[in-house]
Amino acid sequence: MTAWDSWLEAERRRREQQALARELQATEHAAEPIAYRGGKRLVNLSSNNYLGLAGHPLLIEAAARGATRGAGSGSSRLVAGSDPETAALEEKIASFKGSQAALLVGSGYLANVGVIAALCDRDTAVFADRLNHASVVDGVRLSSARTRRYRHRDLDHLAELLEKSSAARKLIVTDTIFSMDGDTAPLTELVELKDRYGALLVLDDAHGGGVFGAHGEGYAHELGLADRIELQVGTFSKAFGVYGAYVAASRVLIDHLVSTCRTLIYSTALPPAIVAAVNASIDLVAEADDRRKALRVKSEHFRARLTELGFDTGESTTQIVPALVGSSERALDLARALEERGVLAVAIRPPTVPAGSARIRFSLMATHADADLELALGALAGVA
Ligand SMILES: *Cc1c(COP(=O)(O)O)cnc(C)c1O
Repeated sequence: MTAWDSWLEAERRRREQQALARELQATEHAAEPIAYRGGKRLVNLSSNNYLGLAGHPLLIEAAARGATRGAGSGSSRLVAGSDPETAALEEKIASFKGSQAALLVGSGYLANVGVIAALCDRDTAVFADRLNHASVVDGVRLSSARTRRYRHRDLDHLAELLEKSSAARKLIVTDTIFSMDGDTAPLTELVELKDRYGALLVLDDAHGGGVFGAHGEGYAHELGLADRIELQVGTFSKAFGVYGAYVAASRVLIDHLVSTCRTLIYSTALPPAIVAAVNASIDLVAEADDRRKALRVKSEHFRARLTELGFDTGESTTQIVPALVGSSERALDLARALEERGVLAVAIRPPTVPAGSARIRFSLMATHADADLELALGALAGVA
């Protein structure tokens, strides 16, 4: 055995012993309320297609029309990958978000990594919520900034760290809706704090976009705070039902990113089909009041019933509803038992969540049939 063989084998064994092994499982209709694995019908509570738009005929049509311009974009944005459709889409995103400018980026992961690394240098201190998404964490890691992670949603802790910092520039970054807990960032207070300390506030609105705001503009709009926040990142892969991501900010910030954001500069531009589908999805999202309302009602009902069954849903107030179980083994057992009973809900384990806080993460969709949610709740009652 080579050194590599024995290392890979030891790593594999360690993951299995700690119930941390992960595997890919082919799932049909993976973004729809009903999915199939090995032919078995499953109520899908694992998709982030919150508004049920991923399979919308208008989006599929737009993608097909876009694809007639070519399957690929051919180069990165700064080389020759910025076609007129992309420029028009960026204007549309800026007007949707009410920002001076916007930038289309390959994915939410790429946006977070690139934006944070591009804004931070040795003279920057980054203040990050401990439960921020991995892409935010990785962006900070890539930069040479000093990082201070504050306890989840703990404003006193954040204020203390800001007070102690002597960095020339301060940047606060937080998810709006925390992806594994379904709770929300205290935005009003964060805006006050960043004003007091002259910090830049960066929001990752991956789970707020499409779902919150009068027209789905996002969580900052829901609270009437959008024009007080310097930079927002959001993805088109969740409620918008497509792929790709945006940065919405001032012209100066966007210009800075165009010249410095490495995940924009060194990665190929999104293909025409995606650009066209995202364009159509913004129109659908803006008009999706009924879907937003349905999602809210179903989420509240599901969370209340889960609590009645004795599950701990933490601080969730959104379409993301965890059932906290603690150990990775328990989470895996629960997910398996649910799948046997016709429910697709994945176990979320460390390092995605802190050690000892493994959980089942349920995500609701506007298009879930009430009867199917009842079926899922019946399965949950069976395993409770
Ligand atoms: C999903 C997610 C991302 C990544 O977005 P993609 O477009 O899927 O790469 C970033 N941040 C948060 C909070 C997310 O949940």
